Amino acid sequence: MFPCMPKHRQPVVIVEGSGAVVRDVEGKEYIDLFAGYAAVNVGHVHREVVKAVTYWVSRIHHTSYDYYNIPSAVLAEELVKILPMRGEKKVFFCVSGAEANEGALKLARKYALKSRGRPGLEVLSLRYSFHGRTHLTAALTGQSKYKKGMASLSVIPGVKVIPAPYCYRSPVHFSDPTECGEFYAYMVEDVIRFETSGDVGAFIAEPVLGEGGIIVPPKNYFRIVKKILEDHGALFIADEVQTGFGRTGRWFGIENFDVEPDVVTMAKGLTSGLPLGAIGARAEVANSFEPGDHSSTWGPNVVSTAAAVAVIKVLKEEKLHERARVLGEYFMKGLKEIQEENPLVGDVRGLGLMIGVELVSDVGRKTPAVKEALEVRERMREKGFLIGVGGAYGSTLRIEPPLLISKEQIDKALTALNEVLREVR
Ligand code: PMP
Repeated sequence: MFPCMPKHRQPVVIVEGSGAVVRDVEGKEYIDLFAGYAAVNVGHVHREVVKAVTYWVSRIHHTSYDYYNIPSAVLAEELVKILPMRGEKKVFFCVSGAEANEGALKLARKYALKSRGRPGLEVLSLRYSFHGRTHLTAALTGQSKYKKGMASLSVIPGVKVIPAPYCYRSPVHFSDPTECGEFYAYMVEDVIRFETSGDVGAFIAEPVLGEGGIIVPPKNYFRIVKKILEDHGALFIADEVQTGFGRTGRWFGIENFDVEPDVVTMAKGLTSGLPLGAIGARAEVANSFEPGDHSSTWGPNVVSTAAAVAVIKVLKEEKLHERARVLGEYFMKGLKEIQEENPLVGDVRGLGLMIGVELVSDVGRKTPAVKEALEVRERMREKGFLIGVGGAYGSTLRIEPPLLISKEQIDKALTALNEVLREVR
């Protein structure tokens, strides 16, 4: 076992999956409430994905960017139809979310140089964010725990991490979410004005901060930020690696905020189980890359892109994003009922089927209940449910199941969670 593996690896050997259920090597079944880090949006081993992958895996696996292949071309066409920007768009394929973000940041800097003759070296991100584990993406990630013992990640020139609208834990008290949204949006203006030279290439943000603990910014936040970025000539990169492909009840998370980004990065739910990342950008921005400026060997991989084409078809036909919205509300309602009775539950928040339950050992002080959260995960596993634990304070239960989870499965999860939270309290 490599030391870089997650330290909380669960003692389960998964050998099979179907829909929202996985089975371990001993035949025990689990309802999967975490979908492999919020990735398997269309469910495990969806027949359409199997069909597409099987068709191409016996014909050709890989062609490289020097040649065309059919699934990657079809995928590009499908993506430009659904990307949340108007006008002409272009896409680029790579292998992971981190790689998509790295590429997007390179693109933003090239665009700054081309459009205004300055390199756009300064790049902004949010506290509590997660953008990947490569050098620049880890530097932009607003959580020290991903940089521990790797100081080089916190001294990369040009990176500015800005306080984010985690309203539940904000040291400033607000009477409503709109005030919180305004306050933290103006932090972006403040940092640009007082901490940069004014040559800001891009601001990268997750529409809902996933690894940070499912932090949902107030509805007005991104609109104000976008205006500030436009005033300073900086691009808005929406990191949709976790929020994309129906997870939040819309195709892309940013659509919940009525804002158009300049660049969108994707991975996870894009294939729902095979390695693929993508960058989508307004054509004017995308055209800043000259041929050869950027590439990735496996990028337009035939099998992965074929899986993604199937995923988009399934999401459209089964309207899974709409289902995520309805079932997400249902799930949250049940969780809020649990919260009313159980003071261990400090906050329930989310959008669609991207839900966070923050546990606190003292409601007034909001003391993070880290040990309790880990115990909840363990007891839930014993009862046959896989659940995520994380967040900036390590005390948030992450509920991000496959989007085709049924109401009955949600009811079972709510019953189990209610029991376990009572026991642990
Ligand atoms: N961005 C976000 C928002 C993510 O949630 C993740 C993965 N948790 C990444 C980037 C990195 O993706 P990958 O692991 O595919 O590199």
